[in-house]
Amino acid sequence: MAEMSVIVVGAGIIGLSVAYEALQSGAVVTIIDRDPEGDKASFGNAGGIAVTEVIPASVPGLWKKVPFWVLDPLGPLALRVRHMPHLFPWLWSFAKVGTASELRRISGALAQINSRVYDDLVPLFNKVGLANDLVRKGALTVYESESGLRRDRPEWDAKRAFGVETQELSASQVRDMEPALGPIVKNGVFMPQWSHVSDPKKVVDVLRNWLAANGAEIFSGQVDRLTPRTDGAAVTLDGGRTLWAEKIVIAAGAWSAQLARQLGDRVLLESERGYNTTIASPGVALEREVIFAERKFVATPLSIGLRIGGLAEFGGLRAAPNFRRSEALVTLAKLYLPGIKEEGGVAWSGHRPATPDSLPVIGRSGPSPHVIYAFGHGHLGLTQGPTTGKIVGDLLFGRQPCLNVECISVARFSQKGRRL
Ligand SMILES: Cc1cc2nc3c(=O)[nH]c(=O)nc-3n(C[C@H](O)[C@H](O)[C@H](O)COP(=O)(O)OP(=O)(O)OC[C@H]3O[C@@H](n4cnc5c(N)ncnc54)[C@H](O)[C@@H]3O)c2cc1C
Repeated sequence: MAEMSVIVVGAGIIGLSVAYEALQSGAVVTIIDRDPEGDKASFGNAGGIAVTEVIPASVPGLWKKVPFWVLDPLGPLALRVRHMPHLFPWLWSFAKVGTASELRRISGALAQINSRVYDDLVPLFNKVGLANDLVRKGALTVYESESGLRRDRPEWDAKRAFGVETQELSASQVRDMEPALGPIVKNGVFMPQWSHVSDPKKVVDVLRNWLAANGAEIFSGQVDRLTPRTDGAAVTLDGGRTLWAEKIVIAAGAWSAQLARQLGDRVLLESERGYNTTIASPGVALEREVIFAERKFVATPLSIGLRIGGLAEFGGLRAAPNFRRSEALVTLAKLYLPGIKEEGGVAWSGHRPATPDSLPVIGRSGPSPHVIYAFGHGHLGLTQGPTTGKIVGDLLFGRQPCLNVECISVARFSQKGRRL
């Protein structure tokens, strides 16, 4: 039997993980990206393998906090006024899923995906030469007040109900683990299942190079048009060139909705821009990723320096980044890491592909079964990349998917029985 041909649009962590799986299953794989080696969300993220993150962004009562977050110049949320009319349908769905029953349903779906992460990620890392780039030392969430931890207890209880392991720590226990943290930290929660990578850009670079060396063709080009056919589907690049394959996978991150729309699939997908600063010689050392609960940012000790990141800015894909937000994150970090030196910090920003229900979109296009979607991973794309590859591999080859894909299908956005 002839080998199946597969085109993957997008060379971020999701597209590359899908390409890896397709190649492993014997497909002829072509990856198309407008800039395969260029900057993308998958390069500059916080590097966390955040398997314990099973609570969606929209939770009951969130709306009470939003005005305070938006008005605080160091707050975790930013909205660009000009983008608000476009954002409205997404926000409406986001609000709609902020109920107790939706929280349980969505958390269950996230827990289902995250419970598989190491089963898929570790073999991939071992195979491509990244075995030493996964740092399995857990992560620490820290609080600056007793009341902060008390307020979050229901969330920790919910996580534990989904199999997340946690260990509450006093201030001195926190500082035994991370001596660089200052007196502002009053207590914390250790999550042993979390891990981080040495450098997200290295992960993507190594994986892409491995794929190229093992038979995948990597093409530079902007996909402008997607055309379903009875025997597969075709993509047309910006120069007019057309490429056909039996199966096409759309893994174009925050840009994927535009392509899905061409096929008639409705998707609510927004850019949730995040920012960070990476300091090569920060003058302080952390052993593991630290999550600052009240201020909603993180610090990850990467091989290239300490990365301080966070923020959710909704301004669309075209708005220019506001790097004052990267600087604001360093200002916050100084409160917790008194010895930190900010000289030489490199600011970065990237587009998280965000859905209103915090679940990715993985599965076949409604109108075109030869097109498969793999996007919308929001805060968890690095974490869920290899598992997404596994699910898509199953769909490509007609195997029973390794987990229940109904809740992550594009059908949840469609008119019939619409949830979102
Ligand atoms: C600040 C920040 C911190 C984060 N921290 C974490 C973390 O700790 N852990 C975690 O798991 N996740 C994290 N994430 C999320 C994670 O980075 C993303 O979910 C993930 O990188 C998305 O990967 P992707 O492959 O879908 O998209 P991308 O990495 O954006 O790749 C999409 C690719 O598609 C290409 N493309 C788009 N449209 C077209 C087109 N029409 N034609 C050709 N090519 C096209 C683009 O050029 C791009 O290369 C973070 C994100 C940010 C911004």
